[in-house]
Amino acid sequence: MKAEIISIGTELLLGEIVNTNAQYIAKELASLGIDVYHQSVVGDNVGRLYEAYRVAFQRADLIITTGGLGPTKDDMTKEIAAKFLNRKLVPHNESLKIIEEFFSKRNLPVNDGNRKQGYFPEGAIILPNPNGTAPACIVEHNDKKLILLPGPPREMVPLFETEVIPYLKKYQDKVFVFKVLNISGIGEGHMEEIIMDIVDNQTNPTVAPYAKTQGLTLRIAASGFTYEEAEKLIVPVEKQIRDRLGDNIYGEGDTTLEAVVAELLIENKLTIATAESCTGGLLSGRLINYPGISSVFMEGVVTYSNQSKIRLLDVKPETLEKYGAVSQEVAKEMAEGIYKSAGTSIGISVTGIAGPAGETETSPVGLTYIGICMNGTTKVKKLNLSGDRNRIRNMITTSALDLLRR
Ligand code: ATP
Ligand code: MG
Repeated sequence: MKAEIISIGTELLLGEIVNTNAQYIAKELASLGIDVYHQSVVGDNVGRLYEAYRVAFQRADLIITTGGLGPTKDDMTKEIAAKFLNRKLVPHNESLKIIEEFFSKRNLPVNDGNRKQGYFPEGAIILPNPNGTAPACIVEHNDKKLILLPGPPREMVPLFETEVIPYLKKYQDKVFVFKVLNISGIGEGHMEEIIMDIVDNQTNPTVAPYAKTQGLTLRIAASGFTYEEAEKLIVPVEKQIRDRLGDNIYGEGDTTLEAVVAELLIENKLTIATAESCTGGLLSGRLINYPGISSVFMEGVVTYSNQSKIRLLDVKPETLEKYGAVSQEVAKEMAEGIYKSAGTSIGISVTGIAGPAGETETSPVGLTYIGICMNGTTKVKKLNLSGDRNRIRNMITTSALDLLRR
């Protein structure tokens, strides 16, 4: 089934509102395994809306519109649909009754605009709308289906969930299953190199890498006539990917890297304290995202200036002078400093250049050192990252968490 979403409303065209309806519907259709081939946005205009229907009916089997079901003149989604499909608009008594009651309860007069919300293209399936006065409807036309939904998301979303999804599931011959693998300890480019052929050669399941703020993910998605069949298709591809990426895969689905680290620390009764420079608390923030971290996370300091590195972490002025703040030596002293002053099992430090300012010839933007002092022994990892300030700071944080889980 090929689908098209038509978002109706001049406000959308003018950029006054964001088209969250199309985003929501597209995502839902994807998870139902229905391909969305086109999305269009059209203003409240008779000719252009007619044209949008004409084009959509040529190229799609399922057409979903949002907006324009209201009582005013510029709401004409149903009217133009009826005209295009050569059907009359006919009253739906139950809907009309609900509309009349709605207004009489509030002591308001019912006008023709309100009444028109109870009229539908002949033969339509009516979807009652408990959150508004405009019911939605489905028109089945030859082999095609047109679904008209209201514009306000608080009306559209519940209707979609309770009415549209069950309706579509009846017609859908295939189900869609996906699995998300979460990855750390490897760059996006490197990961793509390792699994490039799998990504390129797979059609069912498909394999898609995504770089998110919190790290990398791989989405393996399969379709089949049953869930079991689709799940079976995922198994060999997942195995192939796991064989290649090994322990760079730290979890599935909603599992976060900080949760993996936190559970390891708690399980092994290892306490931790953080000393951060360029990440400015992102690392401690990510750790503290995990509920229950309090039994192992003791403290975190942000030592941004050289003076604070000296005062709070006992970094030697000579080390800063000789090697610079972004250096293996300073990362080591920072990690050892926080380890000693917090008295934890692990002290972790981060020092780097997130950019865009602060670059020198010897220290380019993205240069980072992460120090880990554990039971008195310190290891320092050097990273060369690229991107904007935000991306670099997030990648440093993810890398630091990745080092902690190893
Ligand atoms: P109403 O009865 O409120 O007039 P309607 O079905 O006629 O509903 P519209 O008039 O097109 O819908 O839009 C009403 C409101 O719904 C808009 O002002 C906007 O806030 C919201 N809305 C409409 N379309 C979208 C969209 N595509 N994405 C997000 N919000 C939308
Ligand atoms: Mg309206």
